[in-house]
This record gives sequence, C-alpha cells and structure tokens, in this order.
Amino acid sequence: MIKNKKSSEIFDKAQQYIPGGVNSPVRAFKSIGGKPFIVDKGTGAYLYDIDGNRFTDYVMSWGPLILGHAHKPVIEAITKAALKGSSFGASTKAELELAMIVNELMPWVEKLRTVSSGTEACMTAIRLARGATGRQLVVKFDGGYHGHSDAFLVKAGSGLATGGLPASGGVPEKVTEATLSLPYNDIEKVKQCFAEKGNDIAAVIVEPVAANMGVIPPTPGFLQGLRDLTREHKALLIFDEVITGFRVARGGAAELFDIKPDLVCLGKILGGGMPIGGVGGNADIMDYLAPEGPVYQAGTLSGNPLSTAAGIETLKSLDDHRVYTYLKQYTDDLTGEITSLFDKSDIDIRLSKVESLFTLFFAGHDIYDFDSVNKANMNMYSEFFTHMLNRGVYLPPSGYEAWFVSTAHQQEQLEYTINAIRTFIDGRPE
Ligand code: PLP
Repeated sequence: MIKNKKSSEIFDKAQQYIPGGVNSPVRAFKSIGGKPFIVDKGTGAYLYDIDGNRFTDYVMSWGPLILGHAHKPVIEAITKAALKGSSFGASTKAELELAMIVNELMPWVEKLRTVSSGTEACMTAIRLARGATGRQLVVKFDGGYHGHSDAFLVKAGSGLATGGLPASGGVPEKVTEATLSLPYNDIEKVKQCFAEKGNDIAAVIVEPVAANMGVIPPTPGFLQGLRDLTREHKALLIFDEVITGFRVARGGAAELFDIKPDLVCLGKILGGGMPIGGVGGNADIMDYLAPEGPVYQAGTLSGNPLSTAAGIETLKSLDDHRVYTYLKQYTDDLTGEITSLFDKSDIDIRLSKVESLFTLFFAGHDIYDFDSVNKANMNMYSEFFTHMLNRGVYLPPSGYEAWFVSTAHQQEQLEYTINAIRTFIDGRPE
C-alpha cells in the first residue's frame, strides 16, 4: 500500500478552494474511487508524489511527454527561452520555426495557427470550416472528444441526423443542434447522413484513431470513406490529431493511414509539455483566418515563447524514426506480455492498440465503437487501477482513456509493470 497522508490533506484542502479540488475533472479519480495523489515531480518514466511514492507513469500528462518527464534538452530549451521573457504578445522567430517544422513533418500543413490548447484548436477548426464553406452542420462521432467548447459537448443522438443534445450543463441546445454525432467506424451511417444533409455539412471532425473512449483503431476503409464522402459533398475533413499527432507516426495518423484531411488539430506533443494547440491545413483554407480573412481567432498567449521552445525541441528529437520503432517495440512487448498473462487466467480482456497508443479493456467482446466500450467492465478496471497504483504503477484513472508511453520507458519499467499485473491476476479468487 502507498502512503497518502500528505496527498490526502492537500486534496481535502484543495476541495475548499478549487471546484472538486482539481483543475480538470479526471484528475479527481471520481470514476475510480479514492483520493488522488498530489504530484511532487516527474523524471523520465516516473512520477513522484508528495508522500514520496514513486509511480511508473502511463499517463505522461495525457500524451505530451513522448520523451519522458523533465527531459533535459526540453527543460533547457524552456529555461533558455524563459530567461529572455515569458510572453510578448508580438511575433517571435520561434513561431515561424515551429510552423516550418510542422510543415516538414506534415507537408500538407502549409500553414499553421498556434493557440494555447487543443480545445482552442478544435474550436477554431470548425469555425474555419464553417467560414470557408458557408455551411453550419458539423459531424462528430460518439465518444470522440474535441475539447470542451460548447459545440462538441454533445450527447450521442440516438441514430443519425438527430440534432445533438448538450452533454454538459451550461451549453445551449441551439449551439449543439448544429452538431451531429454518429457511431465511430460506421461509414454507412455517415453515408446516410450525407445523403440527407450533405449540402449543409461544413465538416466532419474525427479522431483518426479514437483515443478518448479508450483507443479504438479505425476499421479498414472508414477514414477513406470519410475522405471520399467529404470530397464528394464539398465538406471539409478535419482530423483531430491532438493525441495522434507526432505520436502514431512523425506525420501523425494522416501519414500512418496515408489520408490527407483538409484541416488538422494539434496539441500535446506540439508543445512538448507546455500549453499549446494548433490548427493547420492548406493555405487556401487557412487564409480564411483573420487578419487575412473573415474568420476571427486570436490569443494573448498564442505562440508563447516557452511553448514554442519546448515544442521545437521535442519535435526535433522526433526527427528520428528510431523513436517510433522504440515506442512501438515497448508497446508490443508490454501488450504482448499482458495478453499472455490474462490468456492464462479466466479474465477476458481486449487490448486495443495502434502503434504506441493502447487501452486494456476488461471485455470478452470486440471493441469498435462507443457502445461496445460502454459494455466493458469498468468496475473491474477500477479494481485493477487501484491494485496497480498501490504497487507503484500509475495507469489512466479511467477505463475510457489511452495509456501513454515515452522513450524513457525501459525494460525495467516494463518488467515492473508486468509483475504488478501478475499479482493482480494471482490475487483474484478462482
Ligand atoms: N482533442 C483531443 C483528441 C484530445 O484528446 C483533447 C484533450 O485530451 C483535446 C482535443 C483538447 O485538448 P486540451 O485538453 O489541450 O484543450
């Protein structure tokens, strides 16, 4: 068992001063139960809490830290930039440098506008799509997450073409009526939707690898189907690559699946652990943005010098295919061992993965969309999470999330993780 006296005290007090004690809901461990630990520091693949516990980290700040915590060159780049000033509200050369690196890694991203979060990137992308097409409707997929702006907080409408109902308090129905939510990986439903409303659809936004209902690969033909339908109906295809960008390949899922969207939303790795987001695409569409065009978007901290410094340093390190080979190998080894351990037990699992992105579902059925995820055994995931945390392995505190690895994850962490999983299986009643 881990010690948690100090974390518990801080979390209790935080609840007095911060809503729910946290600045982003999943950090509260609500779906898992128990109180969250309070972080002291991170190094490499490890997180340390203020009670002195060490955890092998499979959250890695939810994706940005592909090189591990406190990666020295990244920290040095941030420090160097900070010594020259932390924000100017005026342009720097580093912003150009970052846009040029992205263009090199994703050549179809001719222009990039950087913002401060993935939420802003997605919000801007649909405003741009609406501005460029003169249409209103946006199609998303059930279980897809595109940040917390109003238009995306839509409960899955029952079936096709029902105007979405807000999934959050405070979101006007008028706003979400223009968002249609369809089942992921079901191209027939998308076809039907376009047949009925094609002339009004501004864009389809999709996580090319779903990673916010756990990781779900696109079924063969799904992304190509979206590409074909959007082209045919003159709607834009937006890949939300906030997670997959620079993760599943240097050029993201667009490179991996060889499908070019019209716009891409970036974040996380783009800022190497500092706040950032980005929307990019070809010049014709991007130039609809102010000051060139009529679609307004702005930000006091956009292109922030600390974020651009961390992003540039991180992306430069990824300019080496060995990074991706390594991440995939670690993931294949880990998931392979997990699968063989559970295969010998009477616990059904499904390991869903794409390159170094994966999720372990406690389920005996195939996982391919949000409904199938909802049928997985999330109570068992909570039990598993708690067991692993108590043995010093920090997994995502929700069964609906991706696990993240970094280049700092080595054989030592892999073996440690596997041993902890073995004790979970061995400790369960027959
Ligand atoms: N899009 C995707 C696919 C995400 O996973 C996230 C966040 O996890 C976002 C958008 C929102 O990004 P941010 O949390 O930086 O606002």
